[in-house]
Amino acid sequence: MGEAIYPVPAEWAENALIDDARYTAMYQQSVSDPDAFWAQEAGRIDWIKPFTKVKNTSYHAGDFGIRWFEDGTLNLSANALDRHLTTRGDQIAILWEPDSPDEAERRITYRELHEMVCRFANVLKDQGVNRGDRVTIYLPMVPEAAVAMLACARVGAIHSIVFAGFSPEALAGRVEDCGSRIVITADEGLRGGKKVPLKKNVDAAAAQAPGIEKVIVLARTGADVGMVPGRDIDWHAACAAVSPENSPEEMNAEDPLFILYTSGSTGKPKGVLHTTGGYSVWVSATHQYVFDYRPGQIYWCAADVGWVTGHSYLIYGPLLNGGTTLMFEGVPNYPDPSRFWQVVDKYQVEIFYGAPTALRALMREGDEWVKKTSRQSLRVLGSVGEPINPEAWEWYHKVVGEGRCPIVDTWWQTETGGTMITPLPGATALKPGSASRPFFGVQPLLLDNDGTIMEGPGDGCLVIADSWPGQMRGVWGDADRFFQTYFTTFAGYYFTGDGCRRDEDGYYWITGRIDDVINVSGHRMGTAEIESALVAHEHVAEAAVVGMPHEIKGQGIYAYVTCNADVEPDEALRKELIAWVRREIGPIATPDVIQFAPGLPKTRSGKIMRRILRKIAENDVGSLGDTSTLADPSVVDHLLANRPQLA
Ligand code: ATP
Ligand code: MG
Repeated sequence: MGEAIYPVPAEWAENALIDDARYTAMYQQSVSDPDAFWAQEAGRIDWIKPFTKVKNTSYHAGDFGIRWFEDGTLNLSANALDRHLTTRGDQIAILWEPDSPDEAERRITYRELHEMVCRFANVLKDQGVNRGDRVTIYLPMVPEAAVAMLACARVGAIHSIVFAGFSPEALAGRVEDCGSRIVITADEGLRGGKKVPLKKNVDAAAAQAPGIEKVIVLARTGADVGMVPGRDIDWHAACAAVSPENSPEEMNAEDPLFILYTSGSTGKPKGVLHTTGGYSVWVSATHQYVFDYRPGQIYWCAADVGWVTGHSYLIYGPLLNGGTTLMFEGVPNYPDPSRFWQVVDKYQVEIFYGAPTALRALMREGDEWVKKTSRQSLRVLGSVGEPINPEAWEWYHKVVGEGRCPIVDTWWQTETGGTMITPLPGATALKPGSASRPFFGVQPLLLDNDGTIMEGPGDGCLVIADSWPGQMRGVWGDADRFFQTYFTTFAGYYFTGDGCRRDEDGYYWITGRIDDVINVSGHRMGTAEIESALVAHEHVAEAAVVGMPHEIKGQGIYAYVTCNADVEPDEALRKELIAWVRREIGPIATPDVIQFAPGLPKTRSGKIMRRILRKIAENDVGSLGDTSTLADPSVVDHLLANRPQLA
């Protein structure tokens, strides 16, 4: 495939926080002298007791351990709120746009948010929540989700957010796994005009998780949900009854901040543990540099608080940086597919950060929905969660950003806490589909199957040498699993599980999960490249590719294809697509099977679950594995019922 390059626009190179020369110099220092680099960056946080040691990390058995700023103390909530009060107390901290455009928005200043958090922290304390206790948050996209997170951080409790779209079973499992006594929820959630029975789900989860002693219930829709006497507490009544003042706990840098379960794209979700000091420095630094963020700019991260992107770049990063963060309760296509861009216009959003899955869905509906909005306020566009196909990238750039806005395609993971490989808008020439270059302090390496380090251009397993401040510190409740999962595949390196290609310019291209690599007649192929070739066809909206058993080739290529809204797939299109991929990539990539599908199985965060597609392709449907994070299980039934007859 041809590789377009978009140079850094001149006005960006001149005005950005980081230009190319500065990137190179800072990157160099960050890897040659990480102690000096991160000591300096740590100045963005107000420490109660300053640290004397910056980095103390080892990936090796024997002295394995990851500690940053280990003798420093701080409180994250005080850094995100209290210290801004004198300088920007009346600035909006959170802009909240409801599900329906007919309902009123909320504009919450730093001063107001501070009081909300102090009150809720006092409510938590009244309920006996102490430092180190786990608190489960099962809230929709409302400002109170941020309040609950920050209140936990304030009192030193460890929050575990469970996405509000998850079932009672999934909720109960996560509550039990981390042993939390308290669940914070709402009567109902609202998404795309539909009500989500959150309180009812908690009641059902409590029947399976006897550890739940208290449930704090926020009234969102005002539905009559029935309160259990002695167990359930009304959010607003409780907050009204306590003091508006609360002094933050002095936390150690390595005290746990939160647990978050991964998306479950590849298997059972892991309870990823992050700590306080390094994470704060990391999300503040990455948010500022990656988005070229200046305090007061209107910034919108469209991720749910239930995912790591919501933690790091909807709440913590922007608030640590004195930002104005927009929180949107709804979905991209309700009431219609213009919704995102109408919200951009309404608040004059300058920075927009979204996921390829949403972009592909909107692209499928046609350009008119975008073009009837202005979007003149936009300066930077971001992408996260999956590889963004070059086709979707170009659409994002040309149609949404009108060729004006740099796109930051940020590769990272729940485990990494923040962005790892990403362009910086004033420093990096862009190649559609490439996450480009490492962020400061990140040392990516490609290893071949034998674990040998590859130099120069090539394709291999992506690992990270050495630690960075925002790295996860453990798998909750299973000390051994952390080391086993991430540090034993290739001794001495953090193993990402992703495959990656590095080109002649040193740019990194994520090729997909290593578990998903297809081996056709001895040729190894990532899923991303074949999927991108399919999506590049004018009739294709989305594609997912997996391997299938093949007598001669070892593995064959099985492609699931979703067409654009106005296309009726037929035999001729199937033949055309097979020929198309053959031409775009080469005969080796010729799909053996194409199954047209109106929808693909995805996690609740919108990632394609290839492991389920693989089972369907193998006709091994008895053991689909953990499907608790699947967004719409009926998609699987449809795929099974419409499996093409194989030759
Ligand atoms: P699980 O670990 O439970 O299987 P998951 O890996 O989907 O779930 P996340 O931590 O949410 O959980 O996702 C991280 C993964 O998402 C990365 O390892 C990578 O495969 C993919 N990813 C994220 N951002 C990008 C990006 N910009 N480009 C390519 N891939 C990305
Ligand atoms: Mg993962």
